[in-house]
Amino acid sequence: MDAILKGYFVRTLTILGSTGSIGTQTLDILDRFPEEFQLNFLTAHTRIADLEAQALRYQPKGVAISNEACWKEFKKNTKFTGEILCGEEGIIAAAADASNDIVMQALVGFSGVMPTLAAIQSGTSIALANKETLVSAGSIVMKAAQDKNVPILAVDSEHSAILQCLSGEANNSIEKLILTASGGPFRTLPHDEFSSITVEKALKHPNWVMGSKITIDSSTLMNKGFEVIEAHYLFDISIEHIEVIIHPQSIIHSMIQFTDGSIKAQLGTPDMRIPIMYALFYPEHKPADLPRLDLISMGDLSFQKPDIHKFPCLALAYQALSIGGIAPATINAANEIAVQAFLKKHISFNQIPQSIEYTLHKMPIIHQPSISDISHADTEARKIAAEFLHYIAS
Ligand code: MG
Repeated sequence: MDAILKGYFVRTLTILGSTGSIGTQTLDILDRFPEEFQLNFLTAHTRIADLEAQALRYQPKGVAISNEACWKEFKKNTKFTGEILCGEEGIIAAAADASNDIVMQALVGFSGVMPTLAAIQSGTSIALANKETLVSAGSIVMKAAQDKNVPILAVDSEHSAILQCLSGEANNSIEKLILTASGGPFRTLPHDEFSSITVEKALKHPNWVMGSKITIDSSTLMNKGFEVIEAHYLFDISIEHIEVIIHPQSIIHSMIQFTDGSIKAQLGTPDMRIPIMYALFYPEHKPADLPRLDLISMGDLSFQKPDIHKFPCLALAYQALSIGGIAPATINAANEIAVQAFLKKHISFNQIPQSIEYTLHKMPIIHQPSISDISHADTEARKIAAEFLHYIAS
């Protein structure tokens, strides 16, 4: 009501994963539009010092901390006087809070699924930065969103690009989506040198600054594979109409091709604040003094076919999507285990796709899974992947 009296629409926003890369960039957007948002909840997993600083600065209604030990420590020492929710249930409660107009879902991995479903059940719009939610439970999440008439607005730069390209094209038929990929830090590295890839090298993305999980996923191209699955669910398009091309400069964020052969592309600097802003204000493009793309100094834009021999994760994602059912959730779970093990230096870079492939073939095929089938598959796949990694490491 206050918002209407003031003559503009104030969005009540909850940020799930506010201390991560997307979370902090979302707060950067809030700083630019302080009149347009009211913060409801901020949530974190373990970074409680950052959460404390955010809570004191932004004064949300409450915070939630998924790690119980961190919640205890936070509660004991904090100067924040609002609500302090605990555990996965706390994150879900923050997501489902009836005051939310929009939830920025910037959690990591499978942990995003249940909070997203909870927010949808409350009729809240979702700005979705966590692609694993759609990879694992795409058909269930999209069906729930449709039933509740809740928009799912992609924050992923490729999907934001497609959303922007699709604007005003409801009556035109699309022949294919073209997702661009930077190719990651090992695009030009010869395949026989992949065994020498270290964590430090894999964490150096050429164009984007992101969290460690997604940066490793980008270096294996699993991130792009997940984006194919994400695009399939978000835009209801079959996999044979989704193409991935390598575009090392990351200037074209993605394209759509119409049935007359015409292609529409969205371009911009590799700055996540642009897709974050587009999701928060959709369908408006808000004025912002973010860096401009200088095409002249950019020079040439180049394109290549992805090398699935070097990057089998991309092929595994296509394979999982064509198997369907629990297969995408399986590769997501196996990938999470493999990436954690790689980050801890327990396994080599090449063992990431090996363990995912092994897990995919070990799991049963279940068509039209329920959410509990998916949850069960996630747990099982983690076990199988962990056993495989234990076996090869010993
Ligand atoms: Mg992306």
